[in-house]
Amino acid sequence: MVMISVAEAKRKIIENCPAPKIIQVPLAGAGGFVLAENLFAPMDAPHYNQSAMDGYAFAYNDWDRKSGLDVIGEVQAGNTFKAGIKPMQALRIFTGAAVPPSADTVVIQENVQREDNVIFIKDPNLLKGNNVRIAGSQTKKADLVLQKGHLLTPASIALLAGLGISYVHVFSLPSVSIIATGKELLKHGECLVEGKIYESNSFGLNAVLHQMGIFPSSIQIVDDNETEICRAINNQLHVDILLITGGVSVGDYDFLTTVIERLGQINHYKVAMKPGKPFVFGELCQAGSKPVLFFGLPGNPLATVVGALQFIIPVLWQLSGVSVSQQPMQLTLKATAKNDIRKSPGRTDFQRGLLSQNECGVYQVECFSQQDSHRIKQLSLANCFIVLDQDSAHVNSGDTVTVQPFPWLHC
Ligand code: AMP
Ligand code: MG
Repeated sequence: MVMISVAEAKRKIIENCPAPKIIQVPLAGAGGFVLAENLFAPMDAPHYNQSAMDGYAFAYNDWDRKSGLDVIGEVQAGNTFKAGIKPMQALRIFTGAAVPPSADTVVIQENVQREDNVIFIKDPNLLKGNNVRIAGSQTKKADLVLQKGHLLTPASIALLAGLGISYVHVFSLPSVSIIATGKELLKHGECLVEGKIYESNSFGLNAVLHQMGIFPSSIQIVDDNETEICRAINNQLHVDILLITGGVSVGDYDFLTTVIERLGQINHYKVAMKPGKPFVFGELCQAGSKPVLFFGLPGNPLATVVGALQFIIPVLWQLSGVSVSQQPMQLTLKATAKNDIRKSPGRTDFQRGLLSQNECGVYQVECFSQQDSHRIKQLSLANCFIVLDQDSAHVNSGDTVTVQPFPWLHC
């Protein structure tokens, strides 16, 4: 099978994604999900005229600027004032309280001189309607509030809660399991001896999933052994996505592709990228059960994270209802290279860099000098990939390069 480009691999993977599933969830737990329905306002918001400040409400057109206004009562947030306000009268009012129909303007308390029960307004710029939030000014009853496909942020949740919406239909998050393969892999707590290493890929993948609000159904560490790998995969056929690391290449102990060929269909093997060339994806199709998307990532921890960011995050977004054009990892920008960057044509390079803005606001990026494939440390210090096209060669300091900022919440 020929090696395909990064763009082609992304396209093939997304084309192969099943439709997202829809579930109903309580609003309180809906943060981070994507709306699967158009939501219409069940009421006006605000649903009564509200004071936006602590101050005094009065009828603007009846106000004689040379005289004081009589304060005839008080309305606190949560209460209403039933009696009307006559010309040259005012009502002490607090933020959030209902402005009675006979008033239309609120003057803030700082701009008032109060003498007993009379106020003198010291605000030459006060206009009719100031400091009043008119009923329906944010949303009118039956208006479209949020559209299908909207990512429910904390602000969206608060907006819907204010409208009394308790449940929403959202796209469910995909279920994911992780299998790390390798005879050399130890769990934390096991005795570190020569030839063995601490397993770290499942931690990296787990962290990627957590960023999307997904908690893996299972994490297994498996020996480089055909039977063991086969058993581990068979135990996870209930999930939507299976992430497998290690053993995807063509070494004598790389069994993943052999096992997958028995259990399902490999859509592709190799992608022209660095790091992460051996990258297998396809479906596991067992009689009577739904197909499971699987991704076989190279064991190298750096390549695993790069593969996860380039190929797996877009799938997770897609299955969670976010279209490709709205996904954070699709945002790239142009920056000036601060140093020379070595590169040979043939593969798309994801070099690790540090993106910043100079005093004129121009983006500039420094490429880390040590870009060897085992150096995960450089990736952890970076805040972006410098994406060098498949056919491009060396970059000189001062050249313009494409940069992909990381989507981490805490960079
Ligand atoms: P492989 O893809 O199995 O040939 O592994 C490539 C490199 O990644 C080797 O140096 C492995 O020891 C290392 N490696 C594989 N799996 C893991 C893992 N889960 N955690 C850390 N390193 C790994
Ligand atoms: Mg291996």
